Amino acid sequence: MQNPITPLKNNSTFRFTCSPQVPCFNACCRDLNQVLTPYDVLRLKQYLDMSSGEFLHRYTEESTGPETGFPVVSLRFGDSNQRTCPFVTNSGCRVYPARPSSCRTYPLARGVSRNRETGKQTEHWALIREPHCLGFIDGGQQTVSEWVADQQITSYNQINDKMLELISLKNRLFSGVLLPVHKEKVYRSLYDIDAFRAELFSPNYKTTILFDTKTLDRDRNNDEDLLVIAMDWVKAYLRTIAARQSK
Ligand code: SF4
Ligand code: SF4
Repeated sequence: MQNPITPLKNNSTFRFTCSPQVPCFNACCRDLNQVLTPYDVLRLKQYLDMSSGEFLHRYTEESTGPETGFPVVSLRFGDSNQRTCPFVTNSGCRVYPARPSSCRTYPLARGVSRNRETGKQTEHWALIREPHCLGFIDGGQQTVSEWVADQQITSYNQINDKMLELISLKNRLFSGVLLPVHKEKVYRSLYDIDAFRAELFSPNYKTTILFDTKTLDRDRNNDEDLLVIAMDWVKAYLRTIAARQSK
C-alpha cells in the first residue's frame, strides 16, 4: 500500500487532477472539519459581499485552541448529518474564487519551520493521499511550485504565516492559555475585522494598547491592510497582557 503522506520538495512532481469529471466530485467537501484563518474569513466575506460579523454569524463556529487559548474559527456544516461544507453545491464550490487556503492547497499540506538564530523560514510540503480522493488516477503531472502558483496560494500563506508568528509570540511571552476575555478581543480583532475597523477608528476609541503609528498609516479602508493593522494590534495587546501578568 502506498504511503498516505509523502514529503515533497518545491520541484518534486506529483500526479493529480480535480475536476467535475472525477467520480468523487465534492467528496472532500463532506465529512469536514474546516478551520478558517483570518485571511480566509476576509476573502470569503468580501466574495459574499457581507460584513465580517454577518459572515461569522451565518457560516462559522468559534472554539478555543486547547494549548494557546486562541480563538479557532471553523465552518459550520451545511448539513450536519453528512458534515458538508455550507458552500458545496451539486455543481461544485459556490465560493471557488475565495475558497479557503486549505481547500486550495489540497492534496498538498504545508508546514513552516523557522531558524531560531536567523529567523529564516523554510516551507515543507507533503502529498496527502486519502482513499476517497480519486484525483491521483490519471491525474496531470505538475511540480509543487506549479501547483502553488496555479492555486494562487502564496498570498494566503504570506498572511497565514503572520498568524503563526502571533501564536509563537504568545507562547514566548507567557505560558498557559489566554483568558476568555483576552481571547474574545483577539477574535474580534482578527476575524471580525469590520467591527475592529469601526472600533479602532471611532472618535471615542480609548486604549492603553500602543503600537507602531506607522501601522496606522496603512489604508484602513483596505481589508488586507486592516488585517495587518489588526495583527500588529494583537501583538501589542499580547505584550500588554504579559506586562500586566509580570507585575
Ligand atoms: S469552501 Fe468550497 S472547496 Fe472548500 S470545502 Fe467548501 S465547497 Fe469544498
Ligand atoms: S476527493 Fe479529490 S478528486 Fe475528488 S473532488 Fe475532492 S479533491 Fe477532487
